[in-house]
Amino acid sequence: MTKPSETPLHKKIFIGLLLGAAAGLLANLLWSGSPLLDNSIRYFFAPLGQVFLRLIFMTVIPLIFCALALGVAELGESHTLGRIGLKTFGFTLAATSISVLLGIGAANWIRPGEGLNQASRESLMEAMTGKTVTTAVENAGKSKDWVQTLLDIIPRNPFADAALAFEDTYRGGGILALMFFSLFVGVALALGRNEKTLRFEEWLQGFYEVVMKMISLAMKLAPYGVAALIFSVVAKLGVDVVFMLGKFVAVVLGVLAIQFFGVYGAILKFVVKVNPAKFFSRIREVILTAFSTSSSNVTLPTALRVTEVELGLPPKISRFVLTLGATANQNGTALYEGIVVLFLAQFFGVELTIGQQSTVVFAAIVAGIGTAGVPGGSLPVIVLILTSVGVPGEGIGIILGVDRILDMSRTVVNVTGDITCATYVAHAEGHKVELE
Ligand code: ASP
Repeated sequence: MTKPSETPLHKKIFIGLLLGAAAGLLANLLWSGSPLLDNSIRYFFAPLGQVFLRLIFMTVIPLIFCALALGVAELGESHTLGRIGLKTFGFTLAATSISVLLGIGAANWIRPGEGLNQASRESLMEAMTGKTVTTAVENAGKSKDWVQTLLDIIPRNPFADAALAFEDTYRGGGILALMFFSLFVGVALALGRNEKTLRFEEWLQGFYEVVMKMISLAMKLAPYGVAALIFSVVAKLGVDVVFMLGKFVAVVLGVLAIQFFGVYGAILKFVVKVNPAKFFSRIREVILTAFSTSSSNVTLPTALRVTEVELGLPPKISRFVLTLGATANQNGTALYEGIVVLFLAQFFGVELTIGQQSTVVFAAIVAGIGTAGVPGGSLPVIVLILTSVGVPGEGIGIILGVDRILDMSRTVVNVTGDITCATYVAHAEGHKVELE
């Protein structure tokens, strides 16, 4: 429990970012290239950042497994709701795909992560991962033919895929195979409900909560980890990297705005035939709650009340769609995952082939189901997607400092997407949505 007087974690992380960046800029100005600075980064600041990152990394595999299996098992419960379930699923799939494609398109077009020279990349990569850029690029480039890539999504041995998912030399299915296995477990849980499988499902729920707690404990180190990581990066690269981060933030916010006003606006206007401006104004309380809490789950009660009272949607529909959507329909998050992976690939100079970019799109869409609706819920997922395409997972340290503001904004898109979905389903079920 946070005591009321305590500074909230996200503020501490932001302070860590500012202090780390300021100290890094100073060190870069005064001692750039000196052996003392290089060694202190290599033997002190970078490992300090690593301690924090590893605490997060270790939770990723169990988290993905539990979250996806439980997500699908819960979706399966919606059998009784047949048509509504199908419409929700269709909307989720379409909206998530559009958002990921928008994100990837923008990152490819604007290329916010480009601009570092080879020497800076080399030293940064070495300091953060102990590997050279050339090995990372080579590993990422060792592609398989498409038949093998597709086949590998179905694991022969899911434990091998889980164990080796972080190895950039591993050429099996990795994260996608693990996701496939987890989804399949979820399907089996949903279809084979009995006393014993329910016990396993409960066990999974318990394990999931333990993992979430581990993440929140690890996050307590975040202010220090972020300060050390950003110091290492800025001290090495100077002011350039600060500009690149600024560009990255601008791209994410721009694409989120396109999804919000453009995509949802168009669905509301042309499909549901309501006035988007009125709609957004009616749900402003939800928007504010999502923005200030960065959590779809915490916003759920407000979202439920507002859709019933302000939009007049039938409770049967809004309860089902919103509860499911809080975890399974995260358009803002999916879009963000795509942009981060491309940004960091550009940053490290890893050229992603169309095949690898398709893996990112696919993984981001599937991961939509597996991302917890809590602050920073997508970070572990991003690490996995990064490694699956040969970009060092450690790179996440670079964007962590600016993550909170982007988290607040993508949560708004996530929740608005759920409400738009509920409104669409109500409309498609013959309910007249009136905002006058
Ligand atoms: N904070 C987001 C949500 O709750 C999840 C994430 O993208 O980290 O919707």
